[in-house]
Amino acid sequence: EVKAWERFWEKSWTDVWVKEGYQHGKDPLFHILYNNSLRNRHRTALIYYGTVITWDELRDQIMRAAGGLQKLGVEKGDRVYLGMQNCPQFVISYFAAHMLGAIVMAISPAYKEGEVNFVLNNSESKVMIIEESVVPVVNQIRTNIPSVKHIIVTSLEEYLPEDPYPAFPADPNGKGIECPGAIAWKDLIANEPLKKMADVDVNDVALLQYTSGTTGHPKGAMLTHLNLLNGAFVQAVQPYNTVDSVLVAVLPLFHITSMNDHMLAWAFGGNTMVLLARFDPETWMQAVERYQGTYSIVATPVVIAISNHPSFGKYDITSLHNFGIGGATLPQAVFNKYKDLGITLFEGYGMSETTATTAFNPNDAVKLGSIGLPVPQVDLRIADINDLNRDVAIGEEGELWVKTPSSGIGYWNDPEGSKETFLGDGWVRTGDIVKMDEDGYLYICGRLKEMIKSSAYSVFPAEVEEYMYAHPAILECCVIGTPHKVKGEEVKAFVVLKADWKGKITEAELIEWAKSQMAPYKYPRHIEFRDSLPKGNTGKIMRKVLKEEEAAKSAQK
Ligand code: AMP
Repeated sequence: EVKAWERFWEKSWTDVWVKEGYQHGKDPLFHILYNNSLRNRHRTALIYYGTVITWDELRDQIMRAAGGLQKLGVEKGDRVYLGMQNCPQFVISYFAAHMLGAIVMAISPAYKEGEVNFVLNNSESKVMIIEESVVPVVNQIRTNIPSVKHIIVTSLEEYLPEDPYPAFPADPNGKGIECPGAIAWKDLIANEPLKKMADVDVNDVALLQYTSGTTGHPKGAMLTHLNLLNGAFVQAVQPYNTVDSVLVAVLPLFHITSMNDHMLAWAFGGNTMVLLARFDPETWMQAVERYQGTYSIVATPVVIAISNHPSFGKYDITSLHNFGIGGATLPQAVFNKYKDLGITLFEGYGMSETTATTAFNPNDAVKLGSIGLPVPQVDLRIADINDLNRDVAIGEEGELWVKTPSSGIGYWNDPEGSKETFLGDGWVRTGDIVKMDEDGYLYICGRLKEMIKSSAYSVFPAEVEEYMYAHPAILECCVIGTPHKVKGEEVKAFVVLKADWKGKITEAELIEWAKSQMAPYKYPRHIEFRDSLPKGNTGKIMRKVLKEEEAAKSAQK
């Protein structure tokens, strides 16, 4: 294993950093970003649909946003909620909060009332910085979120140039809706720059990354400044990450993979990041061509969508030497289509609890279908699920446990949940069943945890069920993942209706209702009414039985 990575270290930037006196593990990432911005002053930091923001300008905006947040009373340890698609404000707010020692929470702007309410109250956030589309949701729950003292509202169009390229995908959601008492983004950054960065210990919590762990409700995985630093470091020392690299980030930055592999690595490397607010195959290809993107990481279904688009081949995307994927298996034919263009797709693996990447395929030694080799600094074991003290042999399946300097320290306010996943000594139980081949490559074989992976988004059955039970027609409900060729899995709910609702509601109507209750990637795409659901001795609904039935059905297709 170690051998496979040696060539990366040979070519890496480690020497440069060591020469410059940078001490790994001592400086939090926002210091490194600050220093990079001074070193790279006039180079391009961000490009947003043609708007170019230099490192000098970026630093100025971050320090002004930090000055503004400080004036609003944000202090070390306070939680700052970010609800935005990819845009410069996301990046600026993220690091502004860190300049004050505050803890960031990066949440999907597609969350509906129940989801936002839960996360805000669980984290007791003081400030929200949200895009306009989130305003209607926040207005609905305003009286239930006492911890929130200030709301800053911004628009995804705020940093657009007059003539955006690629075309900006306008989203009318939430536009022009008043958010009483909110502060406008431009007023936040009109403040005097912060004078002094907070005194932060690298072991202080920097991020609560909401995920559901192995069961139940979302939990905020606590990631420290040291975790983020290490997550960024592993990406940034890859040979493809040089000061001339251009990262094209369309995968949402609130997702740990994009946050780490794009934004944190970029902050570390001081290169250029092209931000795209939403995915559209044509837009993505135009951006790669125009800005000569060298690196991008997306969900597997996205590379499939790009390769099936009529414009595939029309734009020159061959600058993209590194194209990372994850979340679902890639068909060989799609891999070959890119290979013909000289682009190697390489799959990686990671999770919120470990600040993203713990394994990926070196791009000159890819094994299709494998999640790759453990990255440098990762220790792992594959535990026998019937005897967790035993390591399985090569080729045998077991639960993956990882120990890395980017492993988080537990879940926020959840000692019980933390104990199940964070085992002490830095070991994290992933809940994923894997096997390793003779060369050290890992393969995902299944999951112990109940997570559904749909278009690389994590969906948790228990959470979806809880939202479903809010509908008065539902007597019983069980949510599972059903296999899907492109998305990996799709969410499906088995429902038993209450007697007086039978015949009064259709599956389609219930899907429509669910759509209004949950983020788009979460609500069930399929609902099947049943007269009863399979139950165990204790009366518990047996999800496993339904999953097996579903798997057998799809195997027959
Ligand atoms: P999250 O913390 O929401 O990013 O989810 C992490 C989980 O996603 C992992 O524990 C895996 O179950 C799953 N996952 C991550 N990478 C892959 C991959 N390449 N293929 C399939 N599942 C993956």
